Amino acid sequence: MKLRKVSAAAATALVLTLTATACGGDGDSEGGSGSGGGKKIKIGIKYDQPGLGLKEPDGSFSGFDVDVATYVAKELGYKPDQIEFVETKSADRENALARGDVKLIAATYSITDERKAKVDFAGPYLLAHQDLLVKTDSDITEATDLNGKDLCSVTGSTSAQNVKNDFAPKANLKETGGYSECLAGLQSGSVDALTTDDSILAGYAAQQQYKGKFKLAGLKLSNENYGIGVKKGDTETVNKVNAALEKMVKDGAWEKAVKDNFGPANYKNEPAPKIGTIVK
Ligand code: GLU
Repeated sequence: MKLRKVSAAAATALVLTLTATACGGDGDSEGGSGSGGGKKIKIGIKYDQPGLGLKEPDGSFSGFDVDVATYVAKELGYKPDQIEFVETKSADRENALARGDVKLIAATYSITDERKAKVDFAGPYLLAHQDLLVKTDSDITEATDLNGKDLCSVTGSTSAQNVKNDFAPKANLKETGGYSECLAGLQSGSVDALTTDDSILAGYAAQQQYKGKFKLAGLKLSNENYGIGVKKGDTETVNKVNAALEKMVKDGAWEKAVKDNFGPANYKNEPAPKIGTIVK
């Protein structure tokens, strides 16, 4: 009996040791871990936004946010194989940073006062605008045309918030977890329009399976200043990321990332924003 008790205690100790080892063991559990060659950084991105953040069928990642995140990580001392990309859906972003699931978020993440109460932002690194995606033969041309229509957007996004508060309070807004669900609804006809940033919509419209089926309304309904989300109070990281973004613009890597990722969708992006300056 006594022997069994000792064994149980030993087993518990072993489990605790293993758990500590699995956590990296350097006390840094906030999206980055380890030291020297084995260190890793976790970065939140979108998985379903072609041209911005996309998980490819082979498991690799592509898009402007991915390229920006990879550049920033390099400046922070992480090689591409030391980055772990994690999916952060629109409604999960603040919590993912607060919990320390990820160190950074580069996921079409607009800087807003409401979000700034919960997280810090570096940037902005892109200026986009809210727009509508509709079927090619749709007669929706203005935001007010949406009143009484079925509209899809994503929970926790500025796009859904703006529709409810300003653009079309009488629209029948359906909120989903991600934009790909809205896209399916637009294709099946269960919704009349999908609203979010023009940068995201252009990527969808250019996809092979949707070519010629959808169009952007071309309305600049809002200014969406994309920032890199960082845990509230982590000023050191914000400063480092800002320096990295400035360097990325200066050395031409920003322009290259724009061409590589927005070129195929023919998305006419705004010029590089000035770090620290929000366009209201
Ligand atoms: N940029 C907007 C936002 O941060 C819409 C895109 C998104 O949901 O990520 O809410």
